Amino acid sequence: PLILGIESSCDETGVGIVRGLELLANEVASSVEQHARFGGVIPEVASRAHLEAMVPTMRRALDVAGVKLSDVDAIAVTAGPGLSGALLVGLAAAKAYALAAGKPLYGVNHLDAHIAVDTLENGPLPKPSLGLLVSGGHTELLYVEDLAGKVRLLGQTLDDAAGEAYDKVGRILGMPYPAGPHIDAAARLGDPTAIDFPRGLTGPRDLAKHRYDFSFSGLKTAVARWIEARQREGAEIPVNDVAASFQEAVCDVLTAKAIDAAREHGIDTLLLGGGVAANSRLRELAQERCDAAGLTLRFPSRKLCTDNGAMVAALGSHLVAAGVTESRMDIPADSSLAVETVSLANA
Ligand code: ATP
Ligand code: MG
Ligand code: FE
Repeated sequence: PLILGIESSCDETGVGIVRGLELLANEVASSVEQHARFGGVIPEVASRAHLEAMVPTMRRALDVAGVKLSDVDAIAVTAGPGLSGALLVGLAAAKAYALAAGKPLYGVNHLDAHIAVDTLENGPLPKPSLGLLVSGGHTELLYVEDLAGKVRLLGQTLDDAAGEAYDKVGRILGMPYPAGPHIDAAARLGDPTAIDFPRGLTGPRDLAKHRYDFSFSGLKTAVARWIEARQREGAEIPVNDVAASFQEAVCDVLTAKAIDAAREHGIDTLLLGGGVAANSRLRELAQERCDAAGLTLRFPSRKLCTDNGAMVAALGSHLVAAGVTESRMDIPADSSLAVETVSLANA
């Protein structure tokens, strides 16, 4: 089936088109530059940008794929989680296109779409797989039994998301928003063992209660304190070493807990998803540790890690293939939609 996916949960307007698991188009318009000077996404600005970009992005995607709206078998759209106003623009567009063309509508979960996108490049997921979802707003360990509906949350961050920690530390280091790619690049020039930053929730007592949970706000504070102390001494800040040491702390905890979770649940495939899955050290360390543990590691190419429409189309394609019932036309935007709700039912 030919599936069109619409994404608008944050600052990327995305339209993707897939046939089965074959990617035909993935057009993304980002308003990130309009937010950069604020150091974070401004919801009102994002909504307006989606409104302006939606129709042109849709036209480009249909053009690139060489298909017409009437050829499409179903329209999938991000229903949540995300910014309410931003989500509403995508939902309104998807409903309008679905009604006008007489196509079924699937309201899908953005987080599960971050996981599903991998199948466009690496084929069907072994069942079960262990998903490590690391993005700007979420950090979750997932037991992925079936992309069409059975996803269980094993653990998550108790405070900041991994991407949020990257962005906050980057801001402290004077890097532009979003800082993830800048820290990634700086870290490659630095020494990851230069500073021993804390690994959140890894002590014996924390592990007993929060085996698969994460915490990154203490790490962010530790970086800020370390830099302040340096500045008080009038010493120069070794930006590359700070970036590398911070990044090592993040990637160490993420990969250690993900691999423990996979082992303890008898799962042999680990899958990375979300914007932080683009991180070079995370991919490298996960590969090293998966090799050592005898696990198979999968991750999407960088372009598919950050927000896009192809990921929404990919999840829609799995839902359609599994015979999941379409969503109602009056589905709402749900800014805090839980990862276990893969698609909005017809209820
Ligand atoms: P969510 O998916 O939780 O709703 P989001 O959609 O805003 O949040 P994504 O687009 O999935 O988040 O990811 C954006 C995040 O990924 C940002 O925090 C950004 O800094 C981070 N990021 C992007 N590339 C890299 C990289 N190479 N290294 C580390 N972080 C990165
Ligand atoms: Mg974004
Ligand atoms: Fe995202």
